[in-house]
Amino acid sequence: MIIGVLALQGDFEAHARVLERLGASTRIVRTPADLHGIHGLVIPGGESTTMTLGIEREGLAEPLRELAAEGTPVLGTCAGLIMLDRDHLGVLDVTARRNAFGRQIASFEADVNLVGMNGSPLRAVFIRAPWVEERGEEVEVLAEVEGRPVAVRQGNVLAVAFHPEIAGDGRLHSWLLERAAERQAKEPA
Ligand code: GLN
Repeated sequence: MIIGVLALQGDFEAHARVLERLGASTRIVRTPADLHGIHGLVIPGGESTTMTLGIEREGLAEPLRELAAEGTPVLGTCAGLIMLDRDHLGVLDVTARRNAFGRQIASFEADVNLVGMNGSPLRAVFIRAPWVEERGEEVEVLAEVEGRPVAVRQGNVLAVAFHPEIAGDGRLHSWLLERAAERQAKEPA
């Protein structure tokens, strides 16, 4: 199984390490051609304005939308959540609010319980994190912090406001791999 990691900017290497530890092959994605043949995609955290410019420059917006619309599992984290929202790629029916927890609180950690996730809470690192300000009916909220959605799912797309890769918890990446494996089993190539 090959999982793509969008690598225009941000902490894509940490995501690739978590995925490889879980037994996946990873592919650095920088151009539309890199999306060909991947079974899942991670959009990492970073800086959403820079990432938006990179996506425009490389002509990646439409190919990324198509990938998600075809049912390929996608995990977006932090700036990745912002990239998926209505104002950016429009893959998720949500509006993200950037730097929502306040610029002065540059970062914090919290134990987050996600709906459907087994075991102990996830140690989540929030770095100038967004939250989900508005959402459509198809969007399921999996976790909240301070009463604000910080983890949402809409079908094959999971997005979180925090960085799961920093604390080294692989459960969200496992979710991606499991969805990818299920899809492979249903639709053999
Ligand atoms: N605040 C950043 C942005 O708006 C996101 C922060 C992150 O990805 N850690 O792009």
